[in-house]
Amino acid sequence: MENYDFEMPTPCQHCGEIFDLNDGFGSEKWYPNTVICEECYRKEEEEIEEDERWETVNNELSNALYGLDKEDGAWDKLSDENRALILHIVNRRYSPEEGKVRGGSTIKWETFTDESYHNMIAVRPIGDTDFNSPRLFHFIFPENAEKFKLLAEMAFVAKPNGG
Ligand SMILES: [Zn+2]
Repeated sequence: MENYDFEMPTPCQHCGEIFDLNDGFGSEKWYPNTVICEECYRKEEEEIEEDERWETVNNELSNALYGLDKEDGAWDKLSDENRALILHIVNRRYSPEEGKVRGGSTIKWETFTDESYHNMIAVRPIGDTDFNSPRLFHFIFPENAEKFKLLAEMAFVAKPNGG
């Protein structure tokens, strides 16, 4: 690219490359009311599409989850598939690096009667003794706890923090 070919050479706000102002596009997100080069405009467009995708995901999730926190047994009514998916996402949130490295490997979970929680059947990763752990779950029926334990061992790919 040689600058003298341009009618109105303009440095792009985003990448610094010189482009012809006539060939540029109005930035919508990064630099409102500013013309940026075509390449950056395309990248910006992709980013905007990605933002919109996540906005849709978030809206659909809020609709689906609306009020579930106030319903008894909501977790048990979710399908096994959805529960596994939620756990998988949460787990990656807690230790993404380890999740990647360990790939398909699993950790062991245990069930026990939780005297400090209405004698419900608790399920947790072995060694995760934190009372407030996001990975401590309670069930009324032992068979549900056992089923959940199996599900968790399939879904979880990383150890609890520090475990
Ligand atoms: Zn640019």
